[in-house]
Amino acid sequence: MERRTFLKAMAAGAGLGLRAFAGQMPDDLKITRIVAFDLISDRPKLIGKNSRLDVHGVQTRDRMVRLFTNTGLEGLGNCRAGQEQLGLLLGRHPLGYYRPLSRTMAGPLGAGTMPLWDLVGKIMGKPVYELLGGVGSAIVPIYDGSLYFSDLLDEYHDNYLDRFRREIDMSWGMGHRAFKVKIGRGAKWMDPKEGYERDKEVVRSVREHVGPGAVMGVDANDGYSLNQAAQLLVDLPGVDLAFMEEMFPEDIDKCLALKEFIRRRGLKARIADGETQGDLEAFRPFIEARAIDIFQGDMNHFGFEGILAAAAICKGVGARIAPHNWGSLVGFYMQLHVGRAVANFYRAEHDAARTSVLAADGYHIRDGYCSVPDAPGFGLSIYEPGFEKAAKIQFDLKA
Ligand SMILES: [Mg+2]
Repeated sequence: MERRTFLKAMAAGAGLGLRAFAGQMPDDLKITRIVAFDLISDRPKLIGKNSRLDVHGVQTRDRMVRLFTNTGLEGLGNCRAGQEQLGLLLGRHPLGYYRPLSRTMAGPLGAGTMPLWDLVGKIMGKPVYELLGGVGSAIVPIYDGSLYFSDLLDEYHDNYLDRFRREIDMSWGMGHRAFKVKIGRGAKWMDPKEGYERDKEVVRSVREHVGPGAVMGVDANDGYSLNQAAQLLVDLPGVDLAFMEEMFPEDIDKCLALKEFIRRRGLKARIADGETQGDLEAFRPFIEARAIDIFQGDMNHFGFEGILAAAAICKGVGARIAPHNWGSLVGFYMQLHVGRAVANFYRAEHDAARTSVLAADGYHIRDGYCSVPDAPGFGLSIYEPGFEKAAKIQFDLKA
């Protein structure tokens, strides 16, 4: 098919919606070129320490892949697969990897199947969330995960409560209505008692500033003990935490004890954990024992296949998923598609960042939710002048 005819067919197909359109795709469609690059995005503010790690800086980084085909269609997505694995895609038809019944993408890319999902979505004329299940909410609840230890940055040391209020105002202006506050200063960076006092002061002050209607959670990055976690709830009456994340190194009995404590006090906080696990099976017993309410496997590490498998396990016991996503702009969009795909999705974590390389039309944050475009694939596209200027090319493979 001529490229022009094909593009016309594509436009018509987009209007009709799909399978008919997929039938118009040339059988000899194949992947002809693969470009891997680093997408560096700029955060609107400096992110400081958490309880374990030093200053996180002003940029995020995604390893991205562009899959070019002989039809003009292009697949784009986060993918950490190496040159050798990606090279196996050259000359292949992307539909050969798609397993519609299990809603998975086979092939050599491991967890990095996003560019193939994008391409298959474009071939089918469907948004990826629909291929992944399509039973999630129409707009996806999100939260701002960026309230780190700004009080421990030199520039805000003397007026840190003002700084937190300023950060919340920025976030509120962006459309956020749910916030996660990092705690655990006493685990490494401050005297344990002073660190705990500072944690309480910051959490109280954030609640005061966001008001009673906003959703608020805390994340200790394993910097608390079970007793400290329970004490925090006692010491912060009325703060109304929606979730407590990684309060201590994961342990089924301790999680169950904290849940029981929360229940007996008539509180609503949910237990969230799972971001440091590399293996889904390691967390299955936690989910099955209902030791956690919200599973937070890492979006990029597990990919769509892993996160959907986790969602299915969680669904069986009435638990939810909220994939961990930090330091990745594209991981946010991935989570949003998961949020539209499955019914037991809690919230998508947002690490706000901007780039001149990627256009994300149709993703709009408003009142604590983000919309997801119904464009084929992910609805993300490369802004070529920005790409020329700013993309850090890693390799370029041709058939
Ligand atoms: Mg965390």
